Amino acid sequence: MARKIGSRYTANQILGRGSAGTVWLGEGPEGPVAIKLLREDLASDQELVGRFVQERTALLSLDHPRVVGVRDLVVDGNDLALVMDLVRGTDLRTRLDRERRLAPEAAVAIVADIADGLAAAHAAGIVHRDVKPENVLLDMQGPLGPGGSHPALLTDFGVAKLIDSPRRTRATKIIGTPDYLAPELIEGLPPRAAVDIYALATVLYELLAGFTPFGGGHPGAILRRHVTETVVPLPGIPDELWQLLVQCLAKAPASRLRASELAARLREQLPTLAGMAPLDVDEPDTEPDPEPEAAPAAPKEPVARRGAVPLVPGTTPTDSNRDTHTSMRVPAPDELAGGARGTARAPRAAGAPRPGSARHRASARRRRITLGVAGAVLAAAAGIGTWAAVSGDNADATPNKNPEHSAPESP
Ligand code: ADP
Ligand code: MG
Repeated sequence: MARKIGSRYTANQILGRGSAGTVWLGEGPEGPVAIKLLREDLASDQELVGRFVQERTALLSLDHPRVVGVRDLVVDGNDLALVMDLVRGTDLRTRLDRERRLAPEAAVAIVADIADGLAAAHAAGIVHRDVKPENVLLDMQGPLGPGGSHPALLTDFGVAKLIDSPRRTRATKIIGTPDYLAPELIEGLPPRAAVDIYALATVLYELLAGFTPFGGGHPGAILRRHVTETVVPLPGIPDELWQLLVQCLAKAPASRLRASELAARLREQLPTLAGMAPLDVDEPDTEPDPEPEAAPAAPKEPVARRGAVPLVPGTTPTDSNRDTHTSMRVPAPDELAGGARGTARAPRAAGAPRPGSARHRASARRRRITLGVAGAVLAAAAGIGTWAAVSGDNADATPNKNPEHSAPESP
């Protein structure tokens, strides 16, 4: 089932399906590559194709060992493809689903890698905007590092921004996860580098705890928690590591560490974390959020606090997992304020798998419907049309009038 992509690449075999399209194992002039073929509806959007081409320079210029490199962008007939470095391994979500929680040393090593990648991106004025375990690839061919972890690489740089346009995000069901959204995004501020730090700290918390600090239940509730709640300490977590997490989960973006500093501080802690078992953390309760306080006490299935719930009725994803939330409606300020609790919910007694948990998710998992573009979704919903103002984004992207830029040779 080989298929030509542009004139230089061949897609040979499907590696995985994502929300933006299908990722193929392919072959290019310089050997094996991964080719993300964007969904047809995206590829046929002329505006998106234009942005795609414009972003070319910025996307191709990000070259760092902890970033999955984009080698080429192909616009060819109906095909719109990102040609990437091939990473032989798995993504971090898969590993987390399998192991439920990672030993602190491994978690910290992985997150330090990603912080390195972010540092390079931020230095180049690029904000990722969609940091989450699904976008972290583990290179199984790389050397084993601290805690027995393979090198971690951040992928999908620029994809959020590419796909993001006010028209598209309003008109279509773009799906992302609210679990990793920084509070300032929810309040309508443009995405700066600190949103990636918040998201990465959320990932670290999740690797350690097995659940995200503010996830669970209706997406609106998740958004509110980001803005109003304080993160609950994880039992048994070394104090220094906890302090780092708290700092990077600060509501005020300016209080968070920069990526390079985060990477350094994490690595400093690695020796003391060596050999430590995964934390013994009770999973949070699966009770509904407090809003529907008058909910009847009739015995029934516990309400999933962490399952995927579309923000807008009627947009239920068809092959859902928890990180598929769509067409986000940003809660009004009074909604954000109302029902606020002082802290995130307390962990519940250990026991049965929590709906939405790794174990529970394992089967239902995968295949985001639309784009993993949480930030874009929210911003669009919030009516922010100024994403392009992201610091330095696109500053060096040279508009390219020739869409067939990837194929210099004639057919
Ligand atoms: P999306 O972001 O559009 O949802 P992903 O980037 O998550 O899609 O890609 C889907 C799957 O394809 C991933 O889970 C992974 O297995 C595989 N994949 C993506 N990029 C690469 C890559 N560069 N090398 C190898 N496999 C990849
Ligand atoms: Mg992805």
